[in-house]
Amino acid sequence: MDMIEIDGSAGEGGGQMLRTALALSMCTGRPFAMQRIRAGRARPGLMRQHLACVNASAEICGAQMQGAELNSQSLRFAPGPVRAGTYRFAIASAGSCTLLLQTLWPALMLADGESRLSLGGGTHNPAAPPFHFLERSYAPLLHRLGAHSQLRLHRMGFYPAGGGEIEAVLRPAGDGLQPFDLTERGDPVASHAECFAPALPRTVALRELEQLGRALGWTQEQLHVAATRQHEGPGNALLATLEYEHLCEVFTQFGTKGVSAETVARGLAAEVRRYQQGQAALGPHLADQWALPLALAVWRSARAACYTCTQLTAHAHSNFAVIAQFLPVRFAVQAQGTGWRVSLAPA
Ligand code: AMP
Repeated sequence: MDMIEIDGSAGEGGGQMLRTALALSMCTGRPFAMQRIRAGRARPGLMRQHLACVNASAEICGAQMQGAELNSQSLRFAPGPVRAGTYRFAIASAGSCTLLLQTLWPALMLADGESRLSLGGGTHNPAAPPFHFLERSYAPLLHRLGAHSQLRLHRMGFYPAGGGEIEAVLRPAGDGLQPFDLTERGDPVASHAECFAPALPRTVALRELEQLGRALGWTQEQLHVAATRQHEGPGNALLATLEYEHLCEVFTQFGTKGVSAETVARGLAAEVRRYQQGQAALGPHLADQWALPLALAVWRSARAACYTCTQLTAHAHSNFAVIAQFLPVRFAVQAQGTGWRVSLAPA
């Protein structure tokens, strides 16, 4: 089969291009070669967490590889058949195990049996989907495509200590994936905020929630200090969950040393308000992540589908470009209202 050549420095130039290539290489059986991996980042090449994605992918499909080394800026990956099963992967250095899960998920949901993954590392990392985002926003959408799963958070892991544990049971999409349009949120159902602050003074969580509640006009009943265990910390994640009739969005800000609780809350309030002011269905993170599973469903079913989103980030555009290299799917993007409409059609 022809080798797909990917320029890792194109567009956004981050790790997502590599993870998407790994996922789709396994789904299609097509080998790829990637040059200038993560050239857009301060420390380019394969960091520990990217290498973990490469090695875990190779393990589930018996791939042949060249360049799978720390700091490597090029990789050749030739997949074998994907094997459903029970796997355990741990990433040192608090690398994100949610990004690892998203790398393996597409191939395993198309495999011929159930898989059980135990993943260790960071569960709530800056610049990655937090576990609760996967559980509440992403997994239910995959469920509607026909790919069922069960996710469990056994232990939270924050940067830099890591040590989190998640478990995912991924069931194969029996009758194939069925694409659907997602252009409206539907009526609001409920919204709440929660603060995870293991091994930090409780006042941090209370200040963040109070500030967020004031900024968004939310009541005390909507604000929760989440139960955590001392050994899960130190860490601080402030989450806002917005449930609508057709989807659920989760927005997250992380607290760090030197940043006040009020600043963290104000950052999250601004993100939530920006989404609330728009009409489109998906927020900026779902907008880039939804493209891959939807494209697989469009390819498998040979049926078109679309979605609307409030923002199209560089992540989204770069992801569309990599997806289109692997799958016979055409992306079309149109401005709609204050947001965007993304249409996918079989090529
Ligand atoms: P990269 O920066 O290329 O490694 O890709 C990071 C991925 O994590 C992208 O798919 C982002 O949309 C996603 N991501 C980053 N922050 C969040 C967040 N707060 N919630 C959900 N997804 C996120």
